[in-house]
Amino acid sequence: MSALSFTPATTDRRVSDEDRAAILAAPGFGQHFTDFMAFARWHAGTGWGEDALIPYGPITLSPASAVLHYAQEIFEGLKAFRHADGSIWTFRPERNAARLQRSARRLALPELPTEDFLASLRAVAAADEPWVPEPTGEASLYLRPFMFANEDFLGVRAAKTVDYYVIASPAGAYFPRGVQPLVVWITDEFARAGTGGTGAAKCGGNYASSLQGKAEAAEHGADEVMFLDSETHTCIDELSGMNVFAVTSDGRLLTPSLTGSILEGVTRESILQLAADRGLEPVEQRLVASEVVEQIAEGTITEMFAAGTAAVITPIGELRARGGSWTIGDGGSGATTLSLRQELTDIQYGRIPDRHGWLTRLA
Ligand SMILES: *Cc1c(COP(=O)(O)O)cnc(C)c1O
Repeated sequence: MSALSFTPATTDRRVSDEDRAAILAAPGFGQHFTDFMAFARWHAGTGWGEDALIPYGPITLSPASAVLHYAQEIFEGLKAFRHADGSIWTFRPERNAARLQRSARRLALPELPTEDFLASLRAVAAADEPWVPEPTGEASLYLRPFMFANEDFLGVRAAKTVDYYVIASPAGAYFPRGVQPLVVWITDEFARAGTGGTGAAKCGGNYASSLQGKAEAAEHGADEVMFLDSETHTCIDELSGMNVFAVTSDGRLLTPSLTGSILEGVTRESILQLAADRGLEPVEQRLVASEVVEQIAEGTITEMFAAGTAAVITPIGELRARGGSWTIGDGGSGATTLSLRQELTDIQYGRIPDRHGWLTRLA
C-alpha cells in the first residue's frame, strides 16, 4: 500500500484533442509534455507528503534554491507502452524505483518508497491516458520522475526540503527511418565518472559532465562518445547515457562489469537475461578498449551495440579514436543485435509472452 495517493487536483484538460492528435502524429522525443504531472514534497522530520496530481506547467523556484547551486538532483526514465487491447503497461518499474533509492542515497536525498514511486506513475498514466500513443512504430509515453533539493539556503549540506515530480512526454520511434548504426568516438580526454564518484547514480550532474565529450565526438564526425575509466583510461565504461555490449564469434555477449562508475541500466540487466535465455553466454568483465578494437579487427568481435530505455538497443557500426577507426562487422546492424532488440520490444508491447514477469500494468 502506498502512503501517497497523488489525487488529481483538477480534471481540466489543457491541450485540445485536436492539438494532442497533431503532436502524437509526430511526437519526436522530449519535446511535448502531457496535461498532468505528479508532485510530492519531503521535509526533514515529517517525510513525504503534499502529494497531488497537478496540471503540467512551470514551477517557481527561489534563486537560492539549493539545486541551482550544488546540483543535488536525480532522475529516472521509463516508458509506458500501449498494448493492442488498449491497456497501458510499463517495464520493470520496481528496478527504476530501487535505482532512484540508490541514487538518492548517493546524493544525500530522501528515498521514495517503491509503492509511492509506482503510485506516482499510475496516477500520471491514468490521467494522461489519451497521451499514450498507439503501439505502432514503437511509440510510447516517456515517463520522467525526478527529485531535487529545493531549500533556499546557500550553505553546503543535504537539503531539508526536497521535491519529487513525474512529468511525461510522448515519444515517437527513436529511428524513424529504421535502425541506424552509430559511429562512436572513444575519448581519451574526458571521463564521465571517477572511483567513489557519482557514476552509478542517475544524477543530472553526470550528464552535464558528459556534454563536452559529446561535443568532441561530434567534432570527429561521431554520433556518440564512449568514456573509459578515469583512473587508467584503458577500460570501457559506457556512453553518455547508454550501456555498451559486444557480441563475439564464439557466442558470448560481453559488457563492462559494474565497477561503481557505470550506471546499472534496466535495459542492460534485461539484455543479459535474454542473452542467457537464448544460449548466448553473458559475460560481465573489464573490457580493455585496445583489446576490443583488436578483436574487432580480427573479426572475433562481430557486433557491438548500446542499450538504454530511450533507444532500447542501438547498433554501433564503427569505433573511432585518436589512433584510428574500426568498422564492426560490415558496419551495419548485426543480426544478434537486431534480434535481441526485436525480442525486448515484443515483450514490452505485449506481442510475445512476458515470461519473466517484467511488465506492470499502469492503466
Ligand atoms: C539511464 C542511463 C542508462 C540506461 O539505463 P536504462 O535503465 O537501461 O534506461 C545508461 N547509462 C547512463 C549514464 C544512464 O543515465
